[in-house]
Amino acid sequence: MINSYEYNKPLCSLHTMHFPVKADYYIQIKDKKELIEHLSEISEFEKIYYLGEGSNTIFLKDFSGLVVHLKTKGIQLISENKKEVKVEVEAGENWHDFVKTCIQNQWFGLENLTLIPGSVGAAPVQNIGAYGVEVKDFIELVQCIDINTGKLIELTNEECLFRYRNSIFKQQENKHLIITSVIFRLNKQFIPNLSYQELANFIQDDENITSITAELVSDCVRQLRQKKLPDPKVLGNSGSFFHNPILNQNDWQILKNRFKDIPSYKLEDYHYKVAAGWMIDQLGLKGFRVGDMGVHDWQALVLVNHGKGMPNELLKLIAIIKDAVCNQFNIALTVEPNLV
Ligand SMILES: Cc1cc2nc3c(=O)[nH]c(=O)nc-3n(C[C@H](O)[C@H](O)[C@H](O)COP(=O)(O)OP(=O)(O)OC[C@H]3O[C@@H](n4cnc5c(N)ncnc54)[C@H](O)[C@@H]3O)c2cc1C
Repeated sequence: MINSYEYNKPLCSLHTMHFPVKADYYIQIKDKKELIEHLSEISEFEKIYYLGEGSNTIFLKDFSGLVVHLKTKGIQLISENKKEVKVEVEAGENWHDFVKTCIQNQWFGLENLTLIPGSVGAAPVQNIGAYGVEVKDFIELVQCIDINTGKLIELTNEECLFRYRNSIFKQQENKHLIITSVIFRLNKQFIPNLSYQELANFIQDDENITSITAELVSDCVRQLRQKKLPDPKVLGNSGSFFHNPILNQNDWQILKNRFKDIPSYKLEDYHYKVAAGWMIDQLGLKGFRVGDMGVHDWQALVLVNHGKGMPNELLKLIAIIKDAVCNQFNIALTVEPNLV
């Protein structure tokens, strides 16, 4: 049995919704060697949860298994040519710190993903995205360890099957793969991505801006995010709580005919992503509460813990929102964070 694990570990500060639950067993891993040394013991557990920074995880009850908390660190330039660099980043690095390092080193592409909470290791899991950019566009390889066999496995970008907030790492049959590092391919030349209208307008409307740099884009994204999203350290939350539904052209047209103002975004394959937050807002649910859990006052897509919120209150709130959206818009919302 592992001797560096902890029993009855409080998880309150290890997930951003801050429910006061515990894990039967917990181990913190600080380097890859340590992980390999502990593999045979780890694989003995029937229930295992890999934890990064808990910003897309909501522990609803005590976890009757082992939480493996990855805190491995390291950012290494592994190759470069005239156009690109390849950078290997350990899973436990903080995502936003990595984005800052990239900008300082003039490795470009990730600026629009500034300030997304969480770890580098979790970024491929749900293919994080914001302001018109998805991380999949910059991932070359994902390195994993198979906890059952101890084998090191490298998955190419194509093999990860990245989609909107999805990848093979979300599938139950791949839960034996623990991501140890990610290799990014980043540009040496800065080409701003202003495909997201809100970001483009924000930059355009500022008369003081004379040139668009990566620092500037990152700073604008930071400002936009801070205006819209509550800081989980101040108000417990897990970011966007529901996926933006993706509709085929026919279903989208029916919805658009009924609700002319619904914000939607055309995807490449004749599908449309529609704004879940807009629907919740239209139902007048901003600020709505069940006990100490509620819809955020200014961002309808974010559910918050006002302090003493409990899992049963969250589950009731989810059910009320999903029912209301289904009745009014005929759409079944799905929850984005992992409910554990
Ligand atoms: C305020 C706020 C804003 C947010 N904004 C965005 C946004 O703009 N865009 C966006 O895409 N997301 C956003 N999120 C969601 C979240 O930031 C991302 O999903 C992030 O990647 C989660 O990282 P984490 O380390 O906290 O993951 P965790 O919650 O710890 O884990 C998430 C999932 O990844 C798995 N996992 C973690 N590490 C590993 C590993 N090493 N190997 C295998 N599996 C692993 C976990 O088991 C779990 O299934 C936001 C969240 C918050 C709270």
